[in-house]
Amino acid sequence: MRAFTYERPDNVAAAMQAAIQPGASFIAGGTNLLDLMKIDVEQPTHLVDISRLPLREVTETPDGGLRIGALVSNTDLAADQRVRQRYPVLAMALLNGASGQLRNQATTAGNLLQRTRCPYFYDVAMPCNKRQPGSGCSALTGFNRMHAILGASQACIAVHPSDMAVAMAALHAEIELQTPAGLSRKMPIAELHRLPGQNPERDTTLARGELITAVILPPPPAGRQTYRKVRDRASFAFALVSVAAIVDAGGGKIRDARLALGGVAHKPWVPKEAERELAGAPAEAGSYEAAARSALREAQTYTHNEFKVPLAERLLARTLGELATGG
Ligand SMILES: Cc1cc2nc3c(=O)[nH]c(=O)nc-3n(C[C@H](O)[C@H](O)[C@H](O)COP(=O)(O)OP(=O)(O)OC[C@H]3O[C@@H](n4cnc5c(N)ncnc54)[C@H](O)[C@@H]3O)c2cc1C
Ligand code: SF4
Repeated sequence: MRAFTYERPDNVAAAMQAAIQPGASFIAGGTNLLDLMKIDVEQPTHLVDISRLPLREVTETPDGGLRIGALVSNTDLAADQRVRQRYPVLAMALLNGASGQLRNQATTAGNLLQRTRCPYFYDVAMPCNKRQPGSGCSALTGFNRMHAILGASQACIAVHPSDMAVAMAALHAEIELQTPAGLSRKMPIAELHRLPGQNPERDTTLARGELITAVILPPPPAGRQTYRKVRDRASFAFALVSVAAIVDAGGGKIRDARLALGGVAHKPWVPKEAERELAGAPAEAGSYEAAARSALREAQTYTHNEFKVPLAERLLARTLGELATGG
């Protein structure tokens, strides 16, 4: 591990000031960043510990939504009664992530900004465009069972690992940010994470030194919600494929469906065409299967991950059926 300096500001303005210096990085729960520093994948020269900032509250918004402070732990968020009752898809996604101990330490913003689990990203002896731009992508011709089937590029086929982010994408959450210039701004979560393109070293659209201060959930959408995750072990494993779904159905028809897929792309994947097809469709197996095929139509597979396409199709169709019929 390389030498670094450290400070722990107790207000947002001081944290922003501290983060201006080159090589600075925020650290929240540290469950991802410290691991990456220990194996020399990340080399910040100055750590700005934000754990003492006043960002640990979950509060009601005037329109009936929730504002989740960036430092609310994954455990506290999953246990919040308002989240459990009004946004069960989010509570379920959180409880499907990591382990109890990790969730106690992991924060809302840190979870959104955790980095990919591609094994070549963690192995500094191997080429990886995300870790070292221009060095190549070892996963393209290597072991790519966990990798992307949607939205990838020849430069990188990694997936985003967060479960929570998938639920937040289906809920149309907004990210609240503080810029180094002292301004506050918001963006839809759909605009936070990037597809890799030719610059996989950039996971998000955040500018250097920007601080996530909160995640805003709009009022809960009508309908039933669930999060389904398929993984190799029942706990402590990242998604092979996951689905966050909110389906409003009645009178034999689907009124509205909000969907997001995890484990398939460099960001939570929202299958917009499938959502459009489902609106007004009969609540029957043919509609769910057609929407699932539509969601995966653009899928491109690699040597070891062909199985993800039928897995994602079946998971999505089955989840839609269960939510639409109340099963
Ligand atoms: C063994 C293991 C299994 C896991 N399994 C899962 C799983 O199944 N599903 C899942 O979703 N996750 C899983 N995780 C990941 C875990 O959820 C993340 O490590 C955790 O959520 C990161 O949060 P943190 O607060 O510790 O982030 P940190 O490590 O502190 O930070 C992560 C990144 O976010 C940046 N950052 C943090 N806060 C802010 C902020 N407010 N503004 C701007 N930048 C910020 C940091 O600079 C850093 O780059 C697993 C982790 C481990 C170690
Ligand atoms: S998939 Fe992305 S993270 Fe993995 S080796 Fe290729 S460039 Fe690196």
